[in-house]
Parts: sequence; C-alpha cells; structure tokens
Amino acid sequence: MRFVNTVAVVTGGGSGIGRATAIRLAQEGATVVLVGRTAAKLEETVQDITRLGAPGTADRFAADVTDREQVRALAAYVQNQYGDLHVLVNNAGISTHTKWLELTEQEWDDVQRVNIKSVFLVSQTLAPLMIEGAKRERSNRAIVNVASLSGHQAGAHIPHYSAAKAGVINLTKSLALELAPYGIRVNSVSPGFVETPLTERGLQNERFVKAIERNTALGRVGAPEEIANVIAFLASSEASYMTGSDVLVDGGWLIK
Ligand code: NAP
Repeated sequence: MRFVNTVAVVTGGGSGIGRATAIRLAQEGATVVLVGRTAAKLEETVQDITRLGAPGTADRFAADVTDREQVRALAAYVQNQYGDLHVLVNNAGISTHTKWLELTEQEWDDVQRVNIKSVFLVSQTLAPLMIEGAKRERSNRAIVNVASLSGHQAGAHIPHYSAAKAGVINLTKSLALELAPYGIRVNSVSPGFVETPLTERGLQNERFVKAIERNTALGRVGAPEEIANVIAFLASSEASYMTGSDVLVDGGWLIK
C-alpha cells in the first residue's frame, strides 16, 4: 500500500504497460487518472481496476498528449477534481517499423511527437501542480518516463523510435536536475521486449519470438506487469534517493 493518499496520472493507461501500471498503483491505494485518446480503452482499465476490488480508484480523461490545449485541459481537470498531483507516468508511445530510405517525414514527426514531445508537454504543464503540492506538504512526488531498450541500443528500421527514446533518457536527467529543488524525483524505465498491443504484430512472427528468446538472458518476452512493478518502485518513496536514473528492464538482452 505504497500509494495511499496519492494522486497519479498515467498516460497511455488504456492498454499494455500503462494499463498494468495503473492497476498496480490502484492496487496499492492510488487515485489514478488514466489518459489516452481512446475513451473505450480507458474505460476498460477503469473496469479492470473496479473488478479487481483495488483499494484505490480509477478515473479517466481522454486526451491527446501531443496537443498542448488538451494537456492544459487535463491539468485543469486534475487540479479541479483532486487539487494535487504526486505521481506522473509518461508512458504513451507509438512505433513503426520502416526502412530508412522509406521513412516519411510524417512518420518521423508522429513518433517524435508522441514519444518525446509529449514528455515535454505533459511534464511542463503538470509540474506546477506537483510543485504547488510540494510547497503545501512534504510527501513523495515523482515522474517516471517510459523510455526503451531502443534508447540504449539503436535498431535498424526504428531510427525515429530509437532517437526519440534516447532523447527521453536524457530529457529525464535534465528534468531531474530542474525538479530536484522541489523534492520531485524524475527517473525513466527502459523496457525490453514486452507483450502488449504495440508488439502484438511482431510477436505473431515465430522467428522473431525465437530470436528474442535466444538473445535474452532470461530466455523470454516480458509481461507488462514486470515493467509496471519497476515503474511503481520508482514512483514510490522506496526510491527516495533515486533521481535522473534509467532502469533497464530487458530480461538481460543488453548483457547477452
Ligand atoms: P500500447 O499498448 O500500444 O500502449 C501505448 C498507449 O499510448 C496506448 O494506450 C495509446 O492509447 C497511448 N497513446 C498513443 N498515442 C497517444 C497520444 N497521442 N495521446 C495519448 N495517448 C496516446 O504499447 P505499450 O507497449 O504498452 O507501450 C507503452 C510504452 O512502453 C510506450 O512508450 C512504448 O514505447 C514503451 N515500450 C514498449 C515496449 C514493448 O515491448 N511493448 C518496449 C520498450 C518500450 P490511444 O491510442 O488510445 O491514445
């Protein structure tokens, strides 16, 4: 029960790692506001949390995290409904798999917007809420950004994604320096291959799965809950002396 009296925003909370994170936080007492573009997916996560009888509560706010006005509306909603914000998980992300010579400018821009610009927009717009809260009461406050193994090890056919995620790892460090004076910690998590809607198509290819199993020390693809556990740790006061760090959760891909 690490998140009692904690208001948390999880972007991309309607599926995959974001959904697992929202459930984890609510299971430990948090009031979680799920953010994503598709209201029905957010609603499914809310239903999951209710069905599990989690002690926390779940709320949803449909918004595109790349749109400043919609992010401002999110901040106003959190302020009006809850009056504070303790935890922000910047998890929304997209990717495509395209050869360098075929990569369009639109694809490049879309991937940069969702994976890194959103971290700038959401963190900058919601940080004042966290800072005001920190001035009122000394309590655990943290931002966790979801980067990627691809931010450490660039991959062919995902240069736009690899570049964005490497940027997220470094942006995390700058933000950690700027927000430390307010007692707000900022860290990132870099997942390896995890079974979610994002990887669904790739994981239908048996040869791809076998290659992951062969090249991962633990010999398997990860589950969203295994990333959510680390996000929850970084968001909690157990990580009180951690800021500006990136935690690789890749089943031992990079060491192999
Ligand atoms: P996912 O299930 O596709 O989740 C991504 C979520 O982001 C979706 O719920 C999507 O909902 C939301 N989203 C996308 N664009 C958005 C926008 N413009 N505004 C608001 N929400 C938006 O995939 P996932 O694997 O859980 O991905 C979560 C994070 O983990 C991403 O940052 C991804 O890059 C990272 N990651 C995943 C893996 C992996 O193997 N799965 C590995 C490394 C890193 P809507 O479409 O409804 O908006």
